[in-house]
Amino acid sequence: MLTLAWLVALLVVAFALAYVNASGVAWTVALAVALGVAWGASLLPAWLALALTVVFVLLAIPLNVTALRRKLVSDGVLSAFRKILPPMSQTEKEAIEAGTVWWDGDLFSGNPDWNKLLAVQPPTLSPEEQRFLDVETEELCELITDWETTQVHRDLPPKVWQFIKDKGFLGMSIAKEYGGLGFSGYAHSQVMTKLSTRSGTVAVSVMVPNSLGPGELLAHYGTDAQKRHYLPRLAKGLEIPCFALTNPTAGSDAASIPDYGIVCWGEHEGKKVLGLRVTWDKRYITLGPIATLLGLAFRAYDPDHLVGDKEDIGITCALIPTSHPGVEIGRRHMPLSAVFQNGPNWGKDVFIPMDWIIGGQPMLGRGWRMLMECLAAGRGISLPSSATGMAKLAVRATGGYARVRTQFKTPIGKFEGIEEALTRMGGNLYMMDAARALTATAIDIGEKPAVISGIAKLHITQRGREVVNDAMDIVGGKGICMGPSNFLGAAYMQLPVAITVEGANILTRSLIVFGQGAIRCHPYVLKEMQATTEKDRAKASADFDAALFGHIRFTLANMARTLVMGLTGSHFVSVPRSVSPATRRYYQQLTRFSAALAFLSDISMGTLGGALKRKEKLSARLGDVLSLLYLCSATLKRYEDEGRQSADAPLMHWAMWDAMWKAQGALEGVLSNFPNRVIAAFMRRFVFPLGRPYQVPSDKLGHKVARLLLEPSATRDRLVAGSFVSKAADDPVTLIEQALVATLAAEPVEAKLRAAIKDRRLDAKLPPGAGIDALAARAEAQGIVTAAEVQAIATARELTAKVIRVDDFPQDLGTSGLRPLEYGRAAVEASNSSIVDQVAA
Ligand SMILES: Cc1cc2nc3c(=O)[nH]c(=O)nc-3n(C[C@H](O)[C@H](O)[C@H](O)COP(=O)(O)OP(=O)(O)OC[C@H]3O[C@@H](n4cnc5c(N)ncnc54)[C@H](O)[C@@H]3O)c2cc1C
Repeated sequence: MLTLAWLVALLVVAFALAYVNASGVAWTVALAVALGVAWGASLLPAWLALALTVVFVLLAIPLNVTALRRKLVSDGVLSAFRKILPPMSQTEKEAIEAGTVWWDGDLFSGNPDWNKLLAVQPPTLSPEEQRFLDVETEELCELITDWETTQVHRDLPPKVWQFIKDKGFLGMSIAKEYGGLGFSGYAHSQVMTKLSTRSGTVAVSVMVPNSLGPGELLAHYGTDAQKRHYLPRLAKGLEIPCFALTNPTAGSDAASIPDYGIVCWGEHEGKKVLGLRVTWDKRYITLGPIATLLGLAFRAYDPDHLVGDKEDIGITCALIPTSHPGVEIGRRHMPLSAVFQNGPNWGKDVFIPMDWIIGGQPMLGRGWRMLMECLAAGRGISLPSSATGMAKLAVRATGGYARVRTQFKTPIGKFEGIEEALTRMGGNLYMMDAARALTATAIDIGEKPAVISGIAKLHITQRGREVVNDAMDIVGGKGICMGPSNFLGAAYMQLPVAITVEGANILTRSLIVFGQGAIRCHPYVLKEMQATTEKDRAKASADFDAALFGHIRFTLANMARTLVMGLTGSHFVSVPRSVSPATRRYYQQLTRFSAALAFLSDISMGTLGGALKRKEKLSARLGDVLSLLYLCSATLKRYEDEGRQSADAPLMHWAMWDAMWKAQGALEGVLSNFPNRVIAAFMRRFVFPLGRPYQVPSDKLGHKVARLLLEPSATRDRLVAGSFVSKAADDPVTLIEQALVATLAAEPVEAKLRAAIKDRRLDAKLPPGAGIDALAARAEAQGIVTAAEVQAIATARELTAKVIRVDDFPQDLGTSGLRPLEYGRAAVEASNSSIVDQVAA
């Protein structure tokens, strides 16, 4: 009996030590004490006690004496690692090492420091940034309509381009000292979000010069002369930039571009200078067809050793004026009818001087690192903002539409089927916007969050697509038939652009989020990998030893924490006192998920090694858990930052439950598909010791979320904050907003009519073709409703008729004998006149 108690106590102590990530010395002391007790109280047969003591001494001495431990254990493991680790190319190494680790490191640690996240100041705008958003950005939105842009001009109209240049939209992220606006990442994100609620074309056109491209690269790596010359010109729109990386044979695998430049002597402006003879073939390049400045990525070679020993110098970025002889540029692609300028460019044996390399000759071959380090702005700000903008447009307009559109004498938004889709839209948008703001904030506090920006790009654009897809289903035929009064079709068509660019989503999910996250965010893996390539053997041995034993303790800690939190439902996890009581449990549950992720990741990496990279379905699911943890953290932070708005709580709760349910599904996906079934069964016991506890968000909660989308409120305003509503009376979104207010005002009057009919005070029989207006007039004559109330019904009817109207065009869609531009204009005129006629009728 005593022996059993000793054994149980030993296990409990071992678990406790693992749980708190105790040092090697603490383990040694605890085991020594346990053995001492066993000897003292004669708990074990003498031979067994002796055997255990010998094993203990044989292990304790080498493991506690660093020099011995390294010689006997770590050095052996290090050389095994060197043999089995798959070789890493320079470009892979640079991609993995680029950027910084921030909150993602905490989420991967198994024990996130929530105080660290909550201490981050909520993002704000300076008065100047706020003014730009309220004035210039509003004006720009008012200047364009997606229909005219895409169907009439097939480009932004010239006056819009001029406005964009004059007001500094192309230089938002260029520092003030160079004539730019010097905006924060958050301000840039707010502008992009608002523009995207109006037109994808204008958003993309403004996006490119402000994200990964010449401006960003020059600001970080340009020589002083390059910065002084180009940045003011870019800020004022005197130069239109583009950045060309993608080649027909190298899309996702961009590091394999075959475009090349040979270092050689050549002639430039009448002088013999050192430079490169460049040959390239690029496609899909945004702003390319109208660019005056081509940022070009190619691989530099130096076969004659004119600049050094290396022949293959590596990827290099240059800035080439598009007027330079040999640059072929101007033709266009037609990206999903978004009509932003996008096209191919190419050149053969074009000589460029060395000082056209961004950063000059010293930056030859450093292009890939430059690109990887600057990716965060595009991935973390531009694309998440544009997807959020489109989702805001969809939620605002579709929520209103679902209230004013009736079928079966009921607003369609009140049917449970539609409610389900509206719920997803609201919950997704709340979470997307939270993650967008947090990611921009991270960039503003100086992070270059490589993994987080990948997560933001992937999940916000993915959810944006889901929101717009749901909206399309709700709006029905009205979303499908294109024309000036279709508020959704353009976003639906254009969203795949955000899914594809800056790391296509499938690739980002399968290869980047976990592939890079597991190495960068893990506290020890990168250190272990770096030790395997360290040339100084003593340093390699010391670094690897520290990382290896830290890693072992880390794995044990997360194993113990995963089990304990699974058994206790994570009820005992400490949570910052400052958080809302309504969200306390979420912090505890996310900590549990974090420990489970760290535990599964370590076992997966430990047992599958390099093969995990090819097991994309497994690593994508592990990445999903990391991503969902990030989205949930952002959601909780938003709730706190916005002052715990209780009216918004259904959005927050739905988003959290949905994400936790999905995270549980991702963990289950890993466990069910793990190749080694014995290890899978072992991991399952730790991760879900009492079964799977998380459920889908309840229908009752979903109902509350959907209702928030169906009528104006402060919550709806916060949800769609920053979205544009035109002052033009015939704008489809403006009409929906007006119709929504009018419908809500008419509803009590309609209720009065129904009550009067029920009490037989009002005869409901009407002549054929007569509608509610006639009934209201009869009720007014009988003194049941007032003239103002009759007018409320008439206004609601009139506005609703405008909202549900669909554009129609002549038989030939106006194409016969007309060029495309005129066809579009004819279509607009035809459709406008049809609206006017119908309203008049
Ligand atoms: C409208 C538009 C604008 C663009 N603007 C620019 C620009 O300004 N400058 C520029 O240089 N480029 C630009 N691009 C190029 C863009 O970055 C590429 O389209 C993108 O990198 C994907 O390459 P791809 O289209 O060749 O697809 P592919 O690389 O052929 O990929 C096809 C599919 O395979 C998936 N995939 C590939 N590898 C893997 C893998 N290992 N695991 C799982 N899935 C994988 C991808 O996710 C994708 O779903 C633009 C593209 C478009 C469409």
